[in-house]
Amino acid sequence: MGSWSASSVLFTIVVVAAFGFFSYNVQRLVGELQLGRHDDSRWNDLPRRFWNFLQIGIFQKKIFRDGVAGPMHAAIFWGFCVLTLGTIEMILGGIAPGFSFAPYVPAPVYAFYEMNQNLWGALVLAAVSFALFRRITKRVKRLQGKETHADDPLLILSWIGALMITMFASHATTGIVHDLFWWSHALLVLGFLNYLPYSKHLHVVVSLPNVFLSNTSGPGVIGAMRPMDLESDIAVFGAKDVTDLSWKSLLDGFACTECGRCTSVCPANLTGKLLNPRKIVINVRERLEAEAKGDHSKTLLDDFITEEELWSCTTCRACVQECPVSIDQLSVILELRRNLVLGESRFPEEVMPAFESMEQRGSPWAFDPGDRGKWAAGLDIPTMAEMAGRNQRPEVLYWVGCMGSFDDRAKKTTVAFAKILKAANVNFAILGQEEKCNGDAARRMGNEYLYQMLAKENIETLERYGVKTVVTACPHCFHQIGNEYPQFGGNYDVVHHSTYIESLMAAGRVPLRDDLHEPVRTFTYHDSCYLGRYNDVYSAPRETLKRALPMLNLVEMPRSKDRGLCCGAGGGRMFMEEKVGKRINAERAEEALATGADAIAVACPFCMTMMADSVKSRDSHVDVYDVAEVVAGRLA
Ligand code: SF4
Ligand code: SF4
Repeated sequence: MGSWSASSVLFTIVVVAAFGFFSYNVQRLVGELQLGRHDDSRWNDLPRRFWNFLQIGIFQKKIFRDGVAGPMHAAIFWGFCVLTLGTIEMILGGIAPGFSFAPYVPAPVYAFYEMNQNLWGALVLAAVSFALFRRITKRVKRLQGKETHADDPLLILSWIGALMITMFASHATTGIVHDLFWWSHALLVLGFLNYLPYSKHLHVVVSLPNVFLSNTSGPGVIGAMRPMDLESDIAVFGAKDVTDLSWKSLLDGFACTECGRCTSVCPANLTGKLLNPRKIVINVRERLEAEAKGDHSKTLLDDFITEEELWSCTTCRACVQECPVSIDQLSVILELRRNLVLGESRFPEEVMPAFESMEQRGSPWAFDPGDRGKWAAGLDIPTMAEMAGRNQRPEVLYWVGCMGSFDDRAKKTTVAFAKILKAANVNFAILGQEEKCNGDAARRMGNEYLYQMLAKENIETLERYGVKTVVTACPHCFHQIGNEYPQFGGNYDVVHHSTYIESLMAAGRVPLRDDLHEPVRTFTYHDSCYLGRYNDVYSAPRETLKRALPMLNLVEMPRSKDRGLCCGAGGGRMFMEEKVGKRINAERAEEALATGADAIAVACPFCMTMMADSVKSRDSHVDVYDVAEVVAGRLA
């Protein structure tokens, strides 16, 4: 190591100033996060967090979902990780002339390290050149949008390019030219570090912690929601402003790369509604910055995000699924909806009858609760009460749901599934009039009070009968009872009917007709968001169809499985009018019909209604079936 020089003293001063300013900015940003609501659920389940960190953060799993931008971004990210070591060596060498890692590691290791510095430097330079070229010459749709900071990426990409060029130039030159490039590189590095806190590229430092701290409570379980005690007196329901949101939702604002992947898959946005999940996240950050500067004159709700945007959301989770840095756009939407409904009684007027009916009759529609079990007339299906009266307990409870109990089309699925259960000799019962709405639509529409009332009543009923296993044909009931009722002490083994039927068939318990001349049928399967993206059930409905129809030709829509497009009914949208843009179910039905299939299969009564309505309105002869109907149609 050489002795100190005027240059090294000057560089030390520059480094101290740069890191000092950076730490000031870190403190400023941490202070901004502290304006958010307390959330202590972010340090549990550490193995899962590290797994997410590795898969999504380090190995860039979600980034690779885009075949072009994926490899490009991964090269820059991994290059940055490798080059950070070289940057540390350079800074230490600037402070203490002649410093190198070489004496501290075996020679081959240092040679490998040097080779990687050059290799990754070249890859990063190639990737940013391609990214710049793509940005300038092609208007990639998802990167556009008036809410974005359009010039920032160009500046950042050019900056990274300049970092690489000066790095290579300083390696390849000597004397004063080397010094010039070395200083240019060092100043660009330190300048970059300090520009980040003012740029959308803050994600460079925030995205890894954001992935680590993301929701681990289950794929679609609403996270970071303040548990609401029905008896308590909460001042602000949900969130009206950024100070009511969890600090993690605020961190999401810092982590957003403005890549637009979320908006590019949002069914509301794609069909011309105002909702834009990227804008929601950017708005959180903008409002937080204003709040931190003392501007209390505005609120996130209304001044930044309007009611119209919030009520357009189908809660399909496509945005959450797609975000490469694990941002939860949906939790912000739901917190704001809760404030609208519980805090201010503001919601679309057509929702009122559903709320009233759920409260008074335990179902969103004004049917007599006594008629809930009417579909089972003549089918010899016992209720839990009848079995309990005989001191018996069934193997499983068939949870029918409101659609399955009252909707004429869905009742056909209900009967079909009951016939399969009987054919397989499953010992099951229903709750009949003791069953109530699972409350999912109420919760997603922001009416947490109503939701908790229904959930607690249902849990009380299930506990009274000592229920252990529940099967249901409704993905919303499946999700609620299985994933969200545990928040209130209801813990059950809940199985969706597609999975249950598949396991019965695999066990040889479902007797099917041996139709030797069965014609080839071409089906396409529409994934329900609450079954697929919320619960990762993709193969069971497909396998059930294949087992039921040996001559099946199953064709996939371009958007299927975890990229499936919502039918438009979730999040309470079933009960709201769709006045703006194209109907979401029309968009989805067109995609299904374009496959040329002669039938569409679904595994959700809400999807059934949306798909069947849209197909019918096109005078199409394509049939829509629930998977249970397909199996029941082949029963021996
Ligand atoms: S949950 Fe679905 S509808 Fe709602 S913002 Fe996200 S992508 Fe759009
Ligand atoms: S929220 Fe995620 S997917 Fe959407 S723009 Fe930001 S980083 Fe991209």
